[in-house]
Amino acid sequence: MSPPPLNFWQSCDRNLLSSARETLLEVLERDADRLVNRFYDAFLAHEKALPFLSHSVVHERLSHSLRKWLLTLMEIEPDGDLSDFNDRQRRTGEVHARIRLPMHLVLEGASLIKTDVSKALLAQYGNRQAAIAIVLFNEVMDYAMLQMSEAYVSGAAQRAKVEEAYRLFTLGQDVGVERESQRAALMEWSQSVIFGLFGAAGSKPRIEPISSSEFGLWFRHRASIMFQGSLMLKNIEKDMREIDDRLLPKIENRDAADGTEIAAVVARLQSLVEEIKFLLADLFQSLSASAGARDALTNALNRKFLPSILGREVSLCLQHGTPLSVLMIDVDHFKQINDRWGHPAGDQVLRQVAEIIIEHTRAADIVFRYGGEEFLVALVETDHDKAFEVAERVRAGFMNTDLNVADGTSIRGTISIGVATHRGHPDFQHLIDAADKALYLAKNGGRNQVIAA
Ligand code: GH3
Ligand code: MG
Ligand code: MG
Repeated sequence: MSPPPLNFWQSCDRNLLSSARETLLEVLERDADRLVNRFYDAFLAHEKALPFLSHSVVHERLSHSLRKWLLTLMEIEPDGDLSDFNDRQRRTGEVHARIRLPMHLVLEGASLIKTDVSKALLAQYGNRQAAIAIVLFNEVMDYAMLQMSEAYVSGAAQRAKVEEAYRLFTLGQDVGVERESQRAALMEWSQSVIFGLFGAAGSKPRIEPISSSEFGLWFRHRASIMFQGSLMLKNIEKDMREIDDRLLPKIENRDAADGTEIAAVVARLQSLVEEIKFLLADLFQSLSASAGARDALTNALNRKFLPSILGREVSLCLQHGTPLSVLMIDVDHFKQINDRWGHPAGDQVLRQVAEIIIEHTRAADIVFRYGGEEFLVALVETDHDKAFEVAERVRAGFMNTDLNVADGTSIRGTISIGVATHRGHPDFQHLIDAADKALYLAKNGGRNQVIAA
């Protein structure tokens, strides 16, 4: 996408332009320090900004860069080569992405500066002169923010991709071993606290904070990736903070505290460690429930990958103009198979459904376990007619397959299929809904059939 032109600036009368530019430069140079301070005061008031920036960093480094950035804004030559200007903004955006500074905080700051500069201009100059300078300044700021956010978004997306890859890699490791060793590390830490507590009388125990113990390190650096987004992480973090900030200082200064208080502190400590152990077990439990990318029963892809994979396929479609179709497949009267032959027999039938789908599709097509006895297949670079053919082959293939429901016993079953082909809508959910609707028609039409949306 090429950036929008600086319309107003480019169409402005040259004389007006140069006087407005001078006016702006004057105000920016005069007010730079004040603007920078205003910006960071607002910034630091944000809870979300605090982890990124301490006051000293702001004063030593960032104020300087912001000041410089503000003044170089006016070096823009809208008629000339914008590439240096664009590069500068993009580099800033990349840095923000790298330090994970929320983009909305930057935009908020930019809007603050725009308002502030506008007020200063209006207060000092006649309405007309101020108005032109305000529009110019806003246009340049918006243009700079646009360059910055574009670089920011691609930087953040790149990072998310790498993190997800690392997470999947981590999950491929032996998590059972990891669970046991972290439980042991946690217990070891809590024992060391108890030993410290009953150590040499009179000497002040040196107790290692849980956050810098082996468990604490593992928690910060690995658990945060392995269990990304889990609420249980936050609870463990809270417990650890209570231990380090409230309980350990009391234990360390126990001379000053009386015996009953220490007993209460130790009891609380033990119950927090128990809670962490419990949460940890839960975390690992949730992991094994959604461990791999593939569904354990059918080996089809887990549904949780559907948004990212189908989203990507739809955008490939839009970029290259290639077709894309989706099959929604549901076993007919599956409940009866379960009821008559038992759940394990039903499981076996589901495995056979998946095998037949794989048999009739290509390696590039993507098969998801969509629900209990429902599968969704993305047929890449496949148009409507071809998709219908594939669906028909899958349906016939299943109908003619012996389903092994018990030793020496086989039955026959049927499936219904809804087909939908991408028609240009950027939201992949549209495609799923269309296939779902077609499947519903196939069921209503008597099952064992393919209906195309
Ligand atoms: P219809 O033709 O309308 O699709 O009827 P149906 O019986 O197939 O549909 P329904 O949705 O009523 O039943 C689906 C059944 O699939 C209910 C559920 O117990 C069973 N099921 C879901 N997941 C599994 C599984 O992993 N294994 C087995 N054996 N059964 C499952
Ligand atoms: Mg169903
Ligand atoms: Mg069914």
